[in-house]
Amino acid sequence: MRKLLDGIVKFRRDVRPGMHAKFARLALGQSPDAMLIACSDSRVAPNVFASTDPGDLFVTRNVGNIVPPHGVDDGETAAVEFAVRVLGVEDIVVCGHSHCGAMGALAAGRTTAKTPGFKGWLKHAEAARAVLRRQPALGRGLPEADRLSQANVLAQLEHLKTFPSVRRALAAGRLRLHGWWFHLERAEVDAYEPGLGRFVPVDEAEAARIKAGLPAPASPRARRRR
Ligand SMILES: [Zn+2]
Repeated sequence: MRKLLDGIVKFRRDVRPGMHAKFARLALGQSPDAMLIACSDSRVAPNVFASTDPGDLFVTRNVGNIVPPHGVDDGETAAVEFAVRVLGVEDIVVCGHSHCGAMGALAAGRTTAKTPGFKGWLKHAEAARAVLRRQPALGRGLPEADRLSQANVLAQLEHLKTFPSVRRALAAGRLRLHGWWFHLERAEVDAYEPGLGRFVPVDEAEAARIKAGLPAPASPRARRRR
């Protein structure tokens, strides 16, 4: 907690004076670039690995970056509906990571009576096992929990498609879904390439390839009108 408090004081003293204008503009509304669904793990820091600023990302985080099917979890349903129907985000990213405690527990069947909530929540990641059966080469060479973690990203993307708002936006070409995976030791983000059936590092070439599949950027004014 001391680190948090020292950080607030440091921000107030060193950073805040230079960010007044930005936050004053953000107070008028948000138009985030994408929605990110990531794990709660403290080592996963999207603002660091994606170099994002306030206003760039609409984020929801939970244990295991899980998206229960539509209607099962009010919190997740509300976040996805708000992002797609109100903010009109055009891209949703589900981001898993290596050394995920939730995926380690899932792989080892390591949930106990002490954590019934955790056990119940992990049920929504069981679909990852079916993904691995269908795609046995996924995450080849990685530890079993990491392979399950990559499969879990794909399983949660399928769960997203159970949301009527997501289905409608996908059908209208207004939304794209992406699977990312943060490798902790490499400090590098991989993106799932459906054509290759595996995750590949988001270097300049891969970022250019993904961007080529995106529509031309709308002007900020056009985005606000939506
Ligand atoms: Zn995790």
